[in-house]
Amino acid sequence: MSKNSAIVVKNVSQYFGKVKALDGISIKAERGKVTGLLGPNGAGKSTLIKVMTTLLKPTSGFVSVDGVDVIKHPVEARRHIGLAGQFAAVDDFLTGRETLEMVARLYHIPKKVAQKRAAELLEQLDLTDAADRQTKTYSGGMRRRLDLGASLVATPKVLFLDEPTTGLDPRTRLQLWDIIRDLVSQGVTILLTTQYLEEADALADYMYVIDKGNLVIEGTAEALKRSLGKDVIELKVAKAQIGKTKTLLEKNFKQEVMDDDLTRRLSLRTKNGGDDLLKVAKALKDAKIKAEELSLHRPSLDDVFLEVTGKHQEEQQS
Ligand code: ADP
Ligand code: MG
Repeated sequence: MSKNSAIVVKNVSQYFGKVKALDGISIKAERGKVTGLLGPNGAGKSTLIKVMTTLLKPTSGFVSVDGVDVIKHPVEARRHIGLAGQFAAVDDFLTGRETLEMVARLYHIPKKVAQKRAAELLEQLDLTDAADRQTKTYSGGMRRRLDLGASLVATPKVLFLDEPTTGLDPRTRLQLWDIIRDLVSQGVTILLTTQYLEEADALADYMYVIDKGNLVIEGTAEALKRSLGKDVIELKVAKAQIGKTKTLLEKNFKQEVMDDDLTRRLSLRTKNGGDDLLKVAKALKDAKIKAEELSLHRPSLDDVFLEVTGKHQEEQQS
């Protein structure tokens, strides 16, 4: 086992009856870094999080967290693990402070220490002003921060975040990003799942894209974008013309053109962007196809996602 890996997952499979939620997945997370786990809905992200955090015993495979075999020694592994899920598990009638103190008591932390730890976390998560209000008065973002706080009470070295910002408004999302960066600077290892590519781009040092229980691609954001080739030409045409346009461009450029019915966008990779952009414009004009949008851009993670899963990530709303 590599010394720098805080999380090691080897060949993990999870079947639910006939559903192969995970089909032999292997990933690693480096100590003190953020590792991203991306994938469309139903890809198996939450299932893998459950396996890694001892909540689910996999059908087969090996998992260790902080050097502890999670499957053989779940109780010990849990001491190293913090987990915050997509749906904040917060009791409406407790205050924020009471919630954190209660979690601390569950970990058998002495009362005085628990109070101090709760106050620290409330401060760190910018909840001090709301600390003594019942959580039923909290906004979605505040609940999510409190849930994150609960996962931090026992100062875990490895933190698992399952879609920590899904459904939050952009400002609250940025606030959570800052908190996550803060934790990393304190030496915490983070594995997070996300539906937002810009989130993975902004936070993750390394990422894995999974689809239908299989690993489809891995790398740094930079490497994944580079792997696509230089630039991407993207255009949007009327729905009825997608097929015709695709055929035309494939004939002209002798390469596969990606198309997406839902967003009505077609895209192709290019090594000499400017020239090819003009070529596309001319081909469309000659064929009397009107493009609503035509652009040239550096590959984004969304282009990577489209290439490996056949879908734009922005369609994936839960
Ligand atoms: P994601 O978090 O990436 O959206 P999940 O891990 O929740 O995906 O689900 C992966 C697949 O496993 C889906 O097809 C889902 O329906 C299935 N699945 C997840 N949990 C269960 C379960 N407890 N019983 C049966 N099928 C499940
Ligand atoms: Mg999920």
